[in-house]
Amino acid sequence: MMCNPLFCKTLPELDAEASRRVAMAERPTNALSASPNGRSKRALGQFSKFWAPGRTLTIGFFNDTPIVHKAAIEKVARQWLRSANLKFDFVDGMLADIRIYTDGDDNYSQVGTDALLASPMDATMALGVKPDDPLFGRTVLHEFGHVLGLLHEHQHPKANIPWDIPKLYAYFAAKGVDQQTVDINLLDKTDKALAKGTAYDRASIMHYSVLQEQTVGDWEVGINHTLSRRDRMFARRIYPKVVA
Ligand SMILES: [Zn+2]
Repeated sequence: MMCNPLFCKTLPELDAEASRRVAMAERPTNALSASPNGRSKRALGQFSKFWAPGRTLTIGFFNDTPIVHKAAIEKVARQWLRSANLKFDFVDGMLADIRIYTDGDDNYSQVGTDALLASPMDATMALGVKPDDPLFGRTVLHEFGHVLGLLHEHQHPKANIPWDIPKLYAYFAAKGVDQQTVDINLLDKTDKALAKGTAYDRASIMHYSVLQEQTVGDWEVGINHTLSRRDRMFARRIYPKVVA
């Protein structure tokens, strides 16, 4: 198979204007208004990438995937739907809004409506984790959190993780991950406006585990395996029941 950009670790460069356009077309409230006192200038350029509440997302597989493997992914992913008013329609083939690539080892996903920007010839999500992996449930929930438009909790504007940055870079350098990737995925903070007033939640499925050796002093976060109470609350808030 040819190496397309999705399978080479990094997602394709995002066209910010196109990203904004599809997010607004899907759900106009994705445009974040400035804070009530009008001082949050940075928020003006920000937007969320949530789907319209009640929407059906079709989900297909990019490559041949055993039926039991697909069923295992579907069962875990559906946990979100106990809180979020969305529907998942798992379909045969890859003609779908969300296209999952299950070969390889990588796990990542386009965030929310950005999936609409991917070429129909590309996957929008990689789930290399296999059902017998102890991290399977956690990884599927986390990547589907991104599908719902959720961002990383450890990058929450109020997350004050006492990173030991030199040690953190060294830890990932040993795994072949460069500093810029660490910055983007761990250190950069999400804009306040995108956190929508929620409190920082270290139990969130969207939080990476943080090792003691990556922080200064006595601070770590273990591997979160389940949706936290706040994850479920947030999903209900973003995807409320539509009142007719
Ligand atoms: Zn993630």
